[in-house]
Amino acid sequence: MYDVIILGAGAAGLTAAVYTCRKKLKTAILSIDVGGQTNLTSHIENYPGTGPMSGIELMQRFQNEAIGFGAELIMGKANKVDKIENGFRIGLANGEEYECKALILAYGKVPKSLGIEGEEKFMGRGVSTCVTCDAPLYKNREVAVIGGGNSAVEGALELATIAKKVYLVHRRDAFRADEATVEKLKNSEQIELVLNSIPSKVIGDKNVDGIGVENIVTKEKREIKVDGVFIEIGYVVDTSFVQHLVKVNEKKEIIVDERGNTSCPGIFACGDITPVPFKQTVIAAGEGAKAALECYRWLTGGKGAVLDWTH
Ligand SMILES: Cc1cc2nc3c(=O)[nH]c(=O)nc-3n(C[C@H](O)[C@H](O)[C@H](O)COP(=O)(O)OP(=O)(O)OC[C@H]3O[C@@H](n4cnc5c(N)ncnc54)[C@H](O)[C@@H]3O)c2cc1C
Repeated sequence: MYDVIILGAGAAGLTAAVYTCRKKLKTAILSIDVGGQTNLTSHIENYPGTGPMSGIELMQRFQNEAIGFGAELIMGKANKVDKIENGFRIGLANGEEYECKALILAYGKVPKSLGIEGEEKFMGRGVSTCVTCDAPLYKNREVAVIGGGNSAVEGALELATIAKKVYLVHRRDAFRADEATVEKLKNSEQIELVLNSIPSKVIGDKNVDGIGVENIVTKEKREIKVDGVFIEIGYVVDTSFVQHLVKVNEKKEIIVDERGNTSCPGIFACGDITPVPFKQTVIAAGEGAKAALECYRWLTGGKGAVLDWTH
């Protein structure tokens, strides 16, 4: 049995691990990937003290520190959390189970899906939720980006530097991104705007061959030939497997107090998974540190020295 299991190896979870390990708590981090959403930014320049670098490089440093202090990293997707005597049991999608005395939830957000035909079939094989990760695969090819916020607009601009043609499919006739960015979009020769339109299906047999779109004003339906589809419509918190234990708000974020306690004693939460405002890497890291110290305080019945500089 671990003292602490941390679900998620993003900025919040890896920082929490540094803190729990320095308190000599036997710690495991269970995660689908290492680095989380920060990996998606090619250039992070608002994480103080490091200087600008890629998100992947920054998160590699987080990982090295967490592992260096003794955290055990277990790769897998958690899909079950049960309360057991003296702790919790976590089930992974591959059937493995792990037990801990205290649990820190730091598993961030997952990309929203469109729920259309072909999306799941081609996910990771022509359908992507990460332009920064997958754009290089589409050199001189044709792609569609779905969405109208900053991620979609910036994604389309990034893809236009690599792909031959980019269709930007947006359900409205205006974009929510800032004006300077939208201006760049309109001036790009590679980008074709498909406005007032929603995707209806991803078409293909072995590979993606195109997408079906419907104009919601004229009701006209058309098929656009593309090799890849990028879904950039935002992120949601998946609380389906913890909702029976912790309270969530209307956005399904896990409600915490100022120390990271959830409504369930022994379960803590931190980072983008909570309602804490201004979702940023530095904020997730700070919240991870706070939740870990509170977890230590809880495990030691309030007797452990909580301030790191006291020993
Ligand atoms: C494109 C993009 C660019 C950004 N740019 C910046 C920036 O420049 N500066 C900045 O400060 N912030 C930026 N952010 C925001 C920042 O990345 C997030 O606020 C931060 O990553 C939140 O950290 P987190 O640890 O809470 O969650 P995440 O980073 O989302 O990490 C969650 C972790 O949990 C894992 N996980 C998820 N579900 C499960 C599960 N069921 N079981 C096990 N593991 C699971 C994931 O694999 C991941 O490792 C950006 C975000 C995006 C999407």
